Amino acid sequence: MYSPFIIAGNWKMSGGRGQWATLAREITQQAQGLRVELAIFPPFIALPEVEAVLTGSATIALGAQDVAFKDVVASTGEISASMLKGYGCQYVLVGHSERRRDQHENNIMVAEKIRQCHLHRMTPIVCLGETQAERAAGKAIEVIDLQFLDAIETLNISEPADLVLAYEPVWAIGSGQTPTLDQLAEVFRFLRASLVAKYDEMGYDIRILYGGSVSPDNATAYLDIQDLGGYLVGGAALKASSFVAIAQAVQSYRKL
Ligand code: PEP
Repeated sequence: MYSPFIIAGNWKMSGGRGQWATLAREITQQAQGLRVELAIFPPFIALPEVEAVLTGSATIALGAQDVAFKDVVASTGEISASMLKGYGCQYVLVGHSERRRDQHENNIMVAEKIRQCHLHRMTPIVCLGETQAERAAGKAIEVIDLQFLDAIETLNISEPADLVLAYEPVWAIGSGQTPTLDQLAEVFRFLRASLVAKYDEMGYDIRILYGGSVSPDNATAYLDIQDLGGYLVGGAALKASSFVAIAQAVQSYRKL
């Protein structure tokens, strides 16, 4: 595994000026001494104040929740990969289901966003996952396969750290519902096999995260899945104590 475990906190559209720096400071203080990698994903306009807090932090990386799919000045309201890089972003969430649903982001745009990240040396965290209806129809793996192929088919990487996948069943996001261990293990086996088919040996070391209602209470539930390389956390990332508690639980369970 490239790195033991990463816990990514997606702040979505929460907080406000000044509150973002406070949350980042609390996380930094409470995470001192942790060996699990943490990354936080504030809203775009919070990046300057959060970057100022994180400067010099060895444990906490900065990421963005999205990126423009083309680097063209005439893109009103968009934020380019080079702008994100300028604020110290190392990671970018790409293809989050809320964007696929609300901004009609498709797999072609996701592939372009991945390309933009790589042009500016940032790691895309590519989100994949089926809806409740798709799972009920027995199509979960088929949907994930299509998302994976469309996003990754033409993507060459030079090292495992160039790509992170995040399996996020849409029905588990913000709902308190979570997959069974067997359901998650099946998807992870499938994604690992797909990565190895595409990238040979390197495919074993690409991190695959799980996201969907992760909290301090269920943080250890999936850790026996050895392919699990991290969590993408929404709601529980909005309080320093719960975000760091997830990291502590992982660290002690996996003996990191
Ligand atoms: C998410 O939005 O990526 C997410 C996982 O949210 P939550 O943890 O709140 O389900």
